[in-house]
Amino acid sequence: MVRELRHEAKSLLPTLKGHRVWMVNSTHHGGGVAELLPPLLALLRELCVDANWLVMDTDDPGFFRLTKRLHNLIHGHDDPNLGQAERDLYGRVSRDTAEAIARHVSPGDVLVVHDPQPLGAGAILRKKMDITAIWRCHIGLDRETPETQAAWAFLEEAASAYDHAVFTAPEYIPRCLAGRSAIIHPAIDPLSHKNRDLSVHKLVGILANGGLIRAPGPMLTPPFPDPARRLQRDGTWAPATEHEDIGLLHRPIVTQISRWDRLKGFLPLMEGFVALKRELGSRTGLDERHRRSLQLARLVLAGPDPGSIEDDPEGKEVLAELRNAYAGLTPEFQADVAIIVLPMNSKKHNALLVNALQRCSDIVVQNSLQEGFGLTATEAMWKHAAVIGSQAAGLRQQIRPGLDGYLLANPEDPREITAALDDLLRDQWKREVLGQRAQQRVHDNFLIFTQVRHWLVLIARSLAG
Ligand code: UDP
Repeated sequence: MVRELRHEAKSLLPTLKGHRVWMVNSTHHGGGVAELLPPLLALLRELCVDANWLVMDTDDPGFFRLTKRLHNLIHGHDDPNLGQAERDLYGRVSRDTAEAIARHVSPGDVLVVHDPQPLGAGAILRKKMDITAIWRCHIGLDRETPETQAAWAFLEEAASAYDHAVFTAPEYIPRCLAGRSAIIHPAIDPLSHKNRDLSVHKLVGILANGGLIRAPGPMLTPPFPDPARRLQRDGTWAPATEHEDIGLLHRPIVTQISRWDRLKGFLPLMEGFVALKRELGSRTGLDERHRRSLQLARLVLAGPDPGSIEDDPEGKEVLAELRNAYAGLTPEFQADVAIIVLPMNSKKHNALLVNALQRCSDIVVQNSLQEGFGLTATEAMWKHAAVIGSQAAGLRQQIRPGLDGYLLANPEDPREITAALDDLLRDQWKREVLGQRAQQRVHDNFLIFTQVRHWLVLIARSLAG
C-alpha cells in the first residue's frame, strides 16, 4: 500500500508543488476529526506536501451550541427552527475566523475545511481570495427529514462557495451539493496502537497488564495504573477477572466495543445473546461441536470508563439501562455476559486494550441503529474477526453481506441477532473465510494510505481546475 501510494504521489506531486495545504477544524483534541488529522498530515508531509493544520478559535459558547445543533440536525434530530439570530451569530464568528485564517493563507493555497463549524469562514475566504477550497463533511444521514432539510438550508450558501465537498457515503450528500461531491472513506492506521499486529506474548501481556485476565506467571511489563473493570452482580465495578475469569483466551468470544450510546444497540445485542443461551437447553439435533461452542461462548460489551463520561448524560443513562438489564439476568447468564469499562486516562493503554479485545474475539458485532461509518467495524475487520453489522449506512459501506460479514436487517430485533450468532458460532470455517475477506476489504479500501491517495487525487484535480 505504501509503495502504491508513493508511486501515485510521484505523478500528482508536481501539480501540488508551491501550493500549501491548510486543514482547518474546530478543536485540537477530542473527537474523531482531531484524531484523524495528525496521521493524515504526517503522511502528506512525508510525501513532501506542505500540509498544515489550523484550529479555529472562538470563545463564543453560543456558536458551539449552534454548531452542535446543526450537527444534530444533520443526523435528523433537534429543533429545526433556525432564524435570523442564528444566521447573525454564525456569520459573525465566520467573519472573525476568516480574518484569522487569512493571516496564514496566501493566494494559490488549498484550504480543506472540516465539518460545519469553520465552513462559513472557508466560504468567505474562497470568495475573496484566489485559493482552492474543499469542504470535508464527516457527518450525514441516509435520508431526508425536516431536520436535515433545515440544516442544509442553513449551510447551503456557504457550502456552495467551495470547489468540492467530500462525504463519507454517497447517501449523505445533500441535494444542494449533488454532482459536486466526492466520497472519501474514513480509514484506520494499521501501525497505531489500536491496530498494530500483536504477538501472542504481547497480547497476553496487554490483557494481563490491563486486568482482563489473571497474569499466568511473571510478566515482563507492569500492570497498567488503571485496569479494566467488570460489572458485578450487585451493580458495582470490580476487577474484570471477578468474580470469574471471562475466558478471553480459550472460549468463543463475541464482542461489541463502543461508546455507551443508545444508537449502538447494546441492549438488543445482549438480549439476542442471552436468548441463544436460554434456548440451548431445549434444542435437539445439534452436533456436539456446535452445542459446545454455544455453551462456552461469552459476550463482552465494552466501552469507556464511566468516570470519563462525566459530561455525557446519555452515556450514563445507557450504562444504567444495561446495568438494570444485567441485574435481571440469572447468575448463569450473568456469568456469560461481561460488561467491561475500559480506562480512558491513557490513550495508549485504552487503544492497546481495544486492540487486544478485538483480537481475542471470534465474532465482533456492531449492532448500531445509526452509524456514520463505524470505525469499530473497520478495526475488527482488519483483525480478521467475523463481523456482524446492521443496515446502518456507515456499516453498509464496509460490510458486503455474505462476503465480508453479516448485516442484520433490524438491529432492534434480538431474534435476528440470535440467528446470526448461532450461524457463525456453528461454523468456524465460515468465520475464517469472512474474516480473511474482511481484512482484504479493509486493506484495499479503508487504510490510511488509500485515504491519503484519495486526498492527493482530489487536491490535484481541484488545483488543475
Ligand atoms: N473506542 C475506544 N475505546 C472505547 C470505546 C470505543 O477507543 O472504550 C474507539 C473505537 O475503537 C473506535 C472509536 O472509539 O475507534 C469509535 O468510532 P466509531 O466510528 O465506531 O463510532 P463513534 O464513536 O464515532 O460513533
